[in-house]
Amino acid sequence: MPEPEQCVIIGSGPAGWTAAIYAARANINPLCIIGVPRSDPAPVLPGGQLMLTTDVENYPGFPEGISGPEMMAMFQKQAERFGTRILGEDVVSCDFSGSMHRLTTSSGSVIESKAVIIATGATANWIGLDNELRLATSGGGVSACAVCDGALPMFRDQPLGVVGGGDSAMEEASYLAKFGSTVHIIHRRDEFRASKAMQDRVLNAENIEVHWNKQVIDVLGETRIEAVALEDTVTGERSTLDLTGLFVAIGHTPASGFLEGSGVELDAKGYIELRSRDSATNIPGVFAAGDVADQIYRQAITAAGMGCQAALDLERYLHEA
Ligand code: NAP
Repeated sequence: MPEPEQCVIIGSGPAGWTAAIYAARANINPLCIIGVPRSDPAPVLPGGQLMLTTDVENYPGFPEGISGPEMMAMFQKQAERFGTRILGEDVVSCDFSGSMHRLTTSSGSVIESKAVIIATGATANWIGLDNELRLATSGGGVSACAVCDGALPMFRDQPLGVVGGGDSAMEEASYLAKFGSTVHIIHRRDEFRASKAMQDRVLNAENIEVHWNKQVIDVLGETRIEAVALEDTVTGERSTLDLTGLFVAIGHTPASGFLEGSGVELDAKGYIELRSRDSATNIPGVFAAGDVADQIYRQAITAAGMGCQAALDLERYLHEA
């Protein structure tokens, strides 16, 4: 068995790389386990959700914007510059019962570490249509984040669609109503799941229209979305709706499955529960950062901030242990 690590970071999005930059600069010699690419149904890549984002315009320090993959390459380069070591595997299970934390990876090897930061993120849920995923990954006007993409010039004064009936869909629709000509909420039932206050905001907005009992069954357009094909969930009737942008807001899934049986406290949806005011989980020496522990903000900048906090908390833990 090789020497135990001091700090293993699981995940390679803004939270993971920022934790790595801080831990490496503090001479903790982190090992970052970055994951392996897969696609089910949408691609999941080392680097996380930003690898599927064409333009990032709201991360401070990039006045002209930057592509998500370019930004993640820069984060990685900065982490490597200070000595972060990288392992291109997945963590498949964890044993946090002993004094040394043990992580089993996809190759079957076991890595021991005094402390661990979990920064595996969350993936946006997609409807699962081929054309939806094709246009989402090619900058074709399909997105799972209005706050990230809604202000792009391609969506200004255009008819935009939002799929979903939860708080995220309401929030995205209200946000998009500032840019789009009309925002069409497409919801599969005849009532929203969202809180009353959020519902009222969209139902009272002048340029938001709700399409009840409608399911998107296809996204039309070659290089850019031009329309969606809809099916009425009650009558089965089909129709098309012209749109220049489509925002899918049907929830997220945190990447926490590998924590099953590890004792790390998760909420009902699988998000890691943090102690208030810091990044510690319920297990000593196990910290979490980014979207796997945050279903509210879900931004690159907030994930990076949480990564910084986790590295500082871990450093303090190692000193005190
Ligand atoms: P959510 O509450 O799970 O809502 C998901 C919505 O998507 C539901 O309306 C659901 O329809 C619909 N949906 C799911 N799968 C679908 C599919 N395959 N096709 C079409 N529609 C589908 O998710 P969320 O809105 O992302 O919210 C997640 C959590 O964060 C919630 O607890 C929410 O309160 C919270 N949140 C809070 C705020 C805020 O307070 N500012 C903002 C955002 C989120 P059905 O209703 O028919 O199931």
